[in-house]
Amino acid sequence: MLINHPIHYLFSHQSISVYVYIYIDSVNYIMENTTRDENSNTCNDMEKCYENYILVDIGANLTNKKYSRDLDAVIQRAKDSGVQKIMVTGTSVKCSKEALRLTRIYPETLYSTAGIHPHDAKSYEDDEWEDLKQMASSAECVAIGECGLDYNRNFSEPEIQRDVFRKHVELAIEMNKPLFIHERDAYDDLLKILDEFSGKLPPVVIHCFTGTEEQALGYIGRGFYIGLTGYLCKDKSDTGVRKLLSEGGIPLDRLLVETDAPFMYPNIRASKLPAHVKDNLTERSSTFLNRYCTFQRNEPCSLPVIVEMIAAFMKKRPEDVALSTSFNALKLFGLSQ
Ligand SMILES: [Zn+2]
Repeated sequence: MLINHPIHYLFSHQSISVYVYIYIDSVNYIMENTTRDENSNTCNDMEKCYENYILVDIGANLTNKKYSRDLDAVIQRAKDSGVQKIMVTGTSVKCSKEALRLTRIYPETLYSTAGIHPHDAKSYEDDEWEDLKQMASSAECVAIGECGLDYNRNFSEPEIQRDVFRKHVELAIEMNKPLFIHERDAYDDLLKILDEFSGKLPPVVIHCFTGTEEQALGYIGRGFYIGLTGYLCKDKSDTGVRKLLSEGGIPLDRLLVETDAPFMYPNIRASKLPAHVKDNLTERSSTFLNRYCTFQRNEPCSLPVIVEMIAAFMKKRPEDVALSTSFNALKLFGLSQ
């Protein structure tokens, strides 16, 4: 029996409205009330819509010049694969500006973030910060970042990274928008800074998490969200993301998914990827990956494969991971606006 009430998620894109209801006592979700206009080929037929996921990619670097020639096609492929909404990552003032511009070309599909990546912290200038603040106040800009600390490569001096990161935290508090954080080999310092603002922090997302199980539990214990990418295929450690997922370390209500495209290509042929994970990949999702994504240029249409891998490690259904992560993203970033 379909109970038409409890949660419904509304995704709207001009003429496409998809309502997802939850079957309370049944096996699957169904998508109802799908309308499309004649010119849209998003859903070639109703059947295809039914079998597709509805996903939100919370981090894709679509301002990267690798997409300059065919961004339309990249976004259309994402939608065909089930990725209905994409957050375009801002990693510098210039890039944040471009990301915001893209949201106006693809309204209600693209959203942006505004921030300076720790690699670029050295290029911080007071004047430009005012521009960034202005962008951050736009409705289409749904998070502050990518910001944080990266001691792995130290492209900017750690002290400068910490100063610039603090400014982002203050801005996120002022704007009351979530923080979109990048952290590599800087766990302790990152927490130290965030703890300076405890009690005042907006929601925090640790994007493209690559740390240890222990660190993830530390983040989750503080109520932070964890963003996972195709890094899952790269992680060969015994104490990292895979272990965390296998042991149920990340509750579904703390999990978000992202491609970090054009980076973090999910290499499903990686020899260390367990057979039960490879077996969990559907032909449909693998086709998008194999046909359109490469090590040189990953695309948001690889997100279904990432979701299926996460589900396999967690021993959950991909539909459950899709639904929870989309719900988390909509709620956290207010994407239905
Ligand atoms: Zn990052």
